[in-house]
Amino acid sequence: MFDAVVVGGGVAGSVAARELGLRGLRVALLEKSRHPRPKPCGEGLLPHGVAGLRSLGLDFPGVPVKGLRYVSPCGVTAQADFPSGEGMVVRRERFDAYLFEAAAGTPNVETFPETPYDAARWKARWLVGADGLKSQFHRQRDFRVRTPRLHRVGLSTHVRGLQVDRERVEVLFHLGGEVYLAPSDDGEALVACLYRKDALPAEPTNELRVLHTLRSLKALRGRVGSIAFTTPVLGAGPLGLSLGRLAADDVVLIGDAAGAPDPVTGEGMSLAILSAVPLAEALASGRPEAYEKQRRRLASNAAWLSGWILKASRRPALADRVIGALDEHPSLFAKLMGIAVGAASVRDLTLVDLTRLAL
Ligand SMILES: Cc1cc2nc3c(=O)[nH]c(=O)nc-3n(C[C@H](O)[C@H](O)[C@H](O)COP(=O)(O)OP(=O)(O)OC[C@H]3O[C@@H](n4cnc5c(N)ncnc54)[C@H](O)[C@@H]3O)c2cc1C
Repeated sequence: MFDAVVVGGGVAGSVAARELGLRGLRVALLEKSRHPRPKPCGEGLLPHGVAGLRSLGLDFPGVPVKGLRYVSPCGVTAQADFPSGEGMVVRRERFDAYLFEAAAGTPNVETFPETPYDAARWKARWLVGADGLKSQFHRQRDFRVRTPRLHRVGLSTHVRGLQVDRERVEVLFHLGGEVYLAPSDDGEALVACLYRKDALPAEPTNELRVLHTLRSLKALRGRVGSIAFTTPVLGAGPLGLSLGRLAADDVVLIGDAAGAPDPVTGEGMSLAILSAVPLAEALASGRPEAYEKQRRRLASNAAWLSGWILKASRRPALADRVIGALDEHPSLFAKLMGIAVGAASVRDLTLVDLTRLAL
């Protein structure tokens, strides 16, 4: 009999299993696929996620990035560096395989690849649901799941033939959502496109939808050559989810299963990594409610930021104005970056800041 069965060997499950094992709990980590497995993602790990990973004794050779650049629909640009530390762009299929391996090498942890969870087979004191946005536990217990009012979908892929900034993640706003461009391994570029569902281009394939979107962006004129896709275009949706509870009876949720901020904040993987220690400490001491409180605190900045960015991105004129304000007031952009990486709080914004952000 195991002390904990962790269902899902993505970022959240592998890091949580490792932390539980290091605290002496006997853990089974189940993953229904075999790594490396594909995963739609913008692949940007924010500096606090990188620091969190390193503080757990984990390291991964991603592509370092020092900040963000926002480009509004009419081409207004603002850029800023992260307040401290570097972010990293990680190829998900390799990153997740690395974390699963790290869990497998941890005392007290046994890993089970290609093993979907079966309630009749797996018994334990704790069940940790780390099975992503569409967690099966949402249906099995009352977690008070709330889907977002705005239905958004995402596509992600890797390409050659697109010139991207090799030091910054670029976020280009357009009429139906945003495009994320980031430097990836071997000189390739990561492309992630997020859309309101009703704004998804009416092309017959996901490749053509991505090409259509890139070619329609004024800011990319002259930068889109003959694009070659180096990985399949993966889709996900609806994006974002919030839960009224994170623990019910013997089940505790982590990662996207515990609620996913809209990926517009690039926070999902960092939140999954940073929640692993509070979860493991809470289960080791038999107090899941302690985890719930800390996880909500960790997620609060991303919840605020995603609401604000989505509001600005819905109206192009507003996005132009707000990005113009960020360019004009670097200290305001620096505060927002601080909020994004957990170094500042929403309470640090003054009334003047809020007016500039059109709130
Ligand atoms: C388009 C897009 C762009 C994004 N961009 C970013 C970004 O730039 N930065 C960022 O930090 N985050 C981003 N995110 C969010 C990020 O991908 C998630 O927050 C992160 O993957 C959550 O990790 P997880 O381990 O909780 O879930 P997942 O990565 O989904 O892992 C869940 C695992 O559970 C397994 N599983 C499912 N069911 C079972 C079962 N029954 N039995 C066993 N195993 C099971 C699955 O196979 C999977 O491996 C983005 C997401 C999308 C969709």
